Amino acid sequence: MDKKCIFCGENVNEKTKEHVIPQWLIELTGNPKRNMLIGVLEDNFKTKQFAFDQFTFPACYHCNNKFSNLESLSKKVIEKILNNECVNAQELSILLDWFDKVRIGLWLGSLYLSGKYDKINPHLFIDMRVGYTDRALIIEKDNTPDKKINFVGIDTPVFHGMPSVFQLRINNFIFTNMSTVGLVSRRLGFPFSETAVIVNSERNVLDIKAGLERIIKPVIRKLNNDNEKLIIFQPMFGSILDFQDKKTNNFYNNNYVKSHSLDFDKGIGGIFINKKDNETFYLDPNDSILIDPVITKKKPMELAAKTLELQNVLFSDFLKFNYEDKDHEKELKKNKRIALEINKVLISNSKKV
Ligand SMILES: [Zn+2]
Repeated sequence: MDKKCIFCGENVNEKTKEHVIPQWLIELTGNPKRNMLIGVLEDNFKTKQFAFDQFTFPACYHCNNKFSNLESLSKKVIEKILNNECVNAQELSILLDWFDKVRIGLWLGSLYLSGKYDKINPHLFIDMRVGYTDRALIIEKDNTPDKKINFVGIDTPVFHGMPSVFQLRINNFIFTNMSTVGLVSRRLGFPFSETAVIVNSERNVLDIKAGLERIIKPVIRKLNNDNEKLIIFQPMFGSILDFQDKKTNNFYNNNYVKSHSLDFDKGIGGIFINKKDNETFYLDPNDSILIDPVITKKKPMELAAKTLELQNVLFSDFLKFNYEDKDHEKELKKNKRIALEINKVLISNSKKV
C-alpha cells in the first residue's frame, strides 16, 4: 500500500503523522496516559478494538501544518463551551470544520485499519470533505460528573457506507454531528438539491433549485427539538459554486444568501441556531451565544440509539443511486438495506438495556 496523506491523498515522503484523535482531547477527557480502545468494523461485521494511538496516519507536511491550525482554534472553542463561555458564529463554523475533520478522519482511519482503504476514491479525503457539505451539530448535556470521551456510530455498516453521522462525548457534553449534501439548505431558504444522486463512484449529480428565502421548521425533518438540545445548522455551498454552471450560481447571487453567509465568496453559509420549540434563528456574526442546553433526562444508551436512528434517516433519505451498471446498482441497494437492518437491530438492542 502506498503511503498517502490522509488529508489530500498525495504520496507522503515526510515522516509527519496526524492523530485523528488529538492529544489535547485525550488530555481534556482524563488521564492522558490511559489506554483507550476504539472499535473498527471488519468485513465479517464484527468489531475489532484498536488503541487510540493506532489512529495515527500519514500526512504530508503542508496538510499537517494546515490542520494543526484548525486543531488549536477548535481546542479553544471546545474549552469555551465546556466552561460555559459565549461563542460566536465564526467560532462555531470552526467547530463544525473540526467535526468534519474528526468524522472523516475516523472513517478513513477505520478503513485503513480494517484493510479497506485501498478501495476508496481520493475525492473522499479529508481536505475535500472539511466544509464541503451542509452540516449540523446537536449539543446535549447530562450530569455525568466524570471526565470521559466516547464515540458512537463509527463502527456501523451505515457509517462505513456514508460517514454522515456520529456522536462524540466530551465529559458531560454530547455532540452529534451530521453532514451531507442538502441536509439543511432548502429549509434554511438557500438554493438546494434535495438528494445527491450517485451515478458512479466518481461523481454526484446535483439538481440545484432556487432558494425559498425563508426558514421552514423543523430544519431537518425527523429531527424535532425535544427542548433538551441546542442545534447548530450551517448551509455550505463552496463546492457547488466551484463546479456548477452560471445559472446555478445565479441562484446564490442574491441578498438572502449574502446576508446569511459567513463568507459568501468561499460558499460558507451562516450559523443558524435552534434552542427550543423548533425556533430557529440566524446568529448574527457580531453576536455570540451561550451553549447551554438543559440537562437531558436521556440515558447514554438512549442518546446512542438516537445517533443510529439519525444515521438511518440520512442513509435512506439522502443517498440515492442511479448507476448505468444496473447489476452494480442492485448490489449497492442490497448492501444499503443490510446496513439499515443492522442499525435497526443495534437500536432495538440498546433500548432493551
Ligand atoms: Zn496532504
